[in-house]
Amino acid sequence: MVATSVLDPDAECSMDVILVGSSELSCPPSPGLRRDLIAYEVKVNQRDIEDLCICCGSFQVHTQHPLFEGGMCAPCKDKFLDCFFLYDDDGYQSYCSICCAGETLLICENPDCTRCYCFDCVDALAGPGTAGTVQAMSHWVCFLCLPFSCCGLLRQRPKWRGRLKALYDQESESPLEMYKIVPVWKREPVRVLSLFGDIRKELTSLGFLEDGSGTGRLKHLDDVTNIVRRDVEHWGPFDLVYGCTLPPGQACDRPPGWHLLQFHRILQYARPRQGRPQPFFWMFVDNLLLSKDDRSVATRFLETDPVTIQDAVLVWSNIPAVRSSRHSALVPQEELSLLAWDRQRAKSPTPGPAKLVKNCFLPLREYFKYFSELTSPL
Ligand SMILES: [Zn+2]
Ligand SMILES: [Zn+2]
Ligand SMILES: [Zn+2]
Repeated sequence: MVATSVLDPDAECSMDVILVGSSELSCPPSPGLRRDLIAYEVKVNQRDIEDLCICCGSFQVHTQHPLFEGGMCAPCKDKFLDCFFLYDDDGYQSYCSICCAGETLLICENPDCTRCYCFDCVDALAGPGTAGTVQAMSHWVCFLCLPFSCCGLLRQRPKWRGRLKALYDQESESPLEMYKIVPVWKREPVRVLSLFGDIRKELTSLGFLEDGSGTGRLKHLDDVTNIVRRDVEHWGPFDLVYGCTLPPGQACDRPPGWHLLQFHRILQYARPRQGRPQPFFWMFVDNLLLSKDDRSVATRFLETDPVTIQDAVLVWSNIPAVRSSRHSALVPQEELSLLAWDRQRAKSPTPGPAKLVKNCFLPLREYFKYFSELTSPL
């Protein structure tokens, strides 16, 4: 087994080696803090690792790291909450599972895992040189995928999924909801209702529509004028409702505001009845066509602020990662108007929905995976 060499307690290196390796550390997060001092503090100064931020080395511990033994300072905790559920196009997490930063990332090769780890964290916590060893391996399974894994200072917390949820519940503005277990054999593909913009291709490429029989669970509608509540309830229930204004250039005799109001109307029909213990997500994308007034109507009706994504679209959504800080908050009014104006003069290309849908929906896949399986927190 290749992974054993990492788990071998003998792989822990002594202090002098740690200090030699320190020149490779790229700029530490805060002046005066050194990741390599974590090992020194714990091993030589006998400091409890729970009294250190394992993400940056700070002594100002605010909470416990949910996945691994050790503390977390307030700024690192904020970064963690913002970034943990962000994914790249390749389907892997965008940032290190320990510090939620990192440039070069080691990727877990367990097919069920999407976690990454930065060189700095692995070297500082698992032992200097470990990142290089891992990188040289042909097949590496990460610190969370191996049960009871312990490597240097890096010790997986028992019931870390529950702790992850608890951290979000306590610290985040948007606590994660928890859902009942669905046994594997009973799991179904996500049921999607899409309005105006067809996203079948994107959903299929993400594996959202797969089930045994190969038939998708997507209902797509271009015109909803005559759709009533009964229709939507008959087609549903849905897990996800998507709608958008049409990209400029696409012929349409309706004003953009019409798409918004119709989306809102249909969304009310599709919302699960109170108490249905099931996740329900929605997303409305404006290709920068809504007027200022339309946008404030959208914010009022949809009861959430929009975010701009890729400087190209405005998105209102209740999907956790969409609301996180990687997507910039609403850009100033003037900039938005300029952007829309540019767009209409075809200076900025309109991005296809593919990347957008992927970026926004990928976290959902993980979200369902993490939190549909939880029985109880901790
Ligand atoms: Zn920190
Ligand atoms: Zn890291
Ligand atoms: Zn893994």
